[in-house]
Amino acid sequence: MDRKLVGVDLGGTTIKFAILTDSGDVQQKWSVETNILDEGSHIVPDIIESINHHLSLYNMDKSQFIGIGMGTPGTVDRDAGTVVGAYNLNWKTTQHVRDEVEAGTGIKFTMDNDANVAGLGERWKGAGENGQDVSFVTLGTGIGGGLIAGGELLHGTAGAAGEIGHVTVEPNGYLCTCGKRGCLEQYASATGVVHVARDMAEEFSGDSELKRQTDDGQDITSKLVFDLAKGGDALAIRVVDKVSYYLGLALGNLANTLNPESIVIGGGVSAAGDFLLNQVNHYFQEFTFTTVRNSTSLKLARLGNDAGVIGAASLALSFE
Ligand SMILES: [Zn+2]
Repeated sequence: MDRKLVGVDLGGTTIKFAILTDSGDVQQKWSVETNILDEGSHIVPDIIESINHHLSLYNMDKSQFIGIGMGTPGTVDRDAGTVVGAYNLNWKTTQHVRDEVEAGTGIKFTMDNDANVAGLGERWKGAGENGQDVSFVTLGTGIGGGLIAGGELLHGTAGAAGEIGHVTVEPNGYLCTCGKRGCLEQYASATGVVHVARDMAEEFSGDSELKRQTDDGQDITSKLVFDLAKGGDALAIRVVDKVSYYLGLALGNLANTLNPESIVIGGGVSAAGDFLLNQVNHYFQEFTFTTVRNSTSLKLARLGNDAGVIGAASLALSFE
C-alpha cells in the first residue's frame, strides 16, 4: 500500500496544507486563513479540523498516512513538540502543538522551523536535486536559511543554525531587529534593498528615475529597484551591485564553511531571477577559494510557495 504524508506550512496570514506521496508528489493542496485572535488559540484546532475534514472529503483514512510534518515560525523544541515566541501568530507562551495534533488526528506529527522546512523542500524536490549537502537562503521581508549537511538538517545547540540573515556583512552598519549591527537582512531582504536604495539616492547626483521617485517621497519596493536596474537606471544598477556584493560575501563565506553542492536562493527578492543571480555569482566567485568555487554553485529556488509544504511533509518520512 502506498503511504502518504501531510505537509503543513503555518504562516502569519495563511496555513497551507498538502497531501503527498512518500516520494514527494503533491496530490492535494488547500489553504485556510490563519486566525491569530485570542492569542493564537484557534490555530491548532483549525489545523486539526482542516486535516480531518479533507481526509474525509477525499475518502482517506488516518492509517494511510506515515505522518504529518509542519513548518512554523517561532522557536521549535523538537523533543517536546512545542513552539514558543511565534509573535506573528500571537503565540507568546509555549504551545504544545505535537500532542494536540496527534490527539486530534490520530496521525504522528513532527515539526521544524519554517525556513529549515523550506530548505528541506528545495533540497528534496527543487533546485537542490536531493543532494546530501544543500544550503537554502530565503530573501523575503526578512532573510532565513536552512542548512542540510551530510543529508541532515543542521539545528545548532540552541536551534539557531542557518540564521544567515544575521551574518555580519557590514561591521557597525545598519541596526538590525536582533540588536546587532550590519546583518545581511538589513541589506538584502526586501526592506533592506529599499533602505540601501534610499541611502544611496541621497548621495547620488546623476540622472535616475529611482532617485526621482525616492526624492519625491514615493513608496519604493525592492521589485522597483530591480526592474529599474534591468532597464539601465544608473542608481538602481549601483544599488543592485551593492546588494549583490553583500549577498556574495555572506554566501561565499557560507560556502567556504560548509562547501555544499548548491546554495539555493528563494523568497520574494529572488523573483529578480538570473539578473540577481549573475551579479551575486560575480562576488561569490571573488569571495570563495578555489576548491569551493569549483564545487559549490548558486541556484534559484524552483518550488516557490510549495517549498514549505513539501519540505514539511518530508519531516514525516522519519516515521517510516
Ligand atoms: Zn540581525
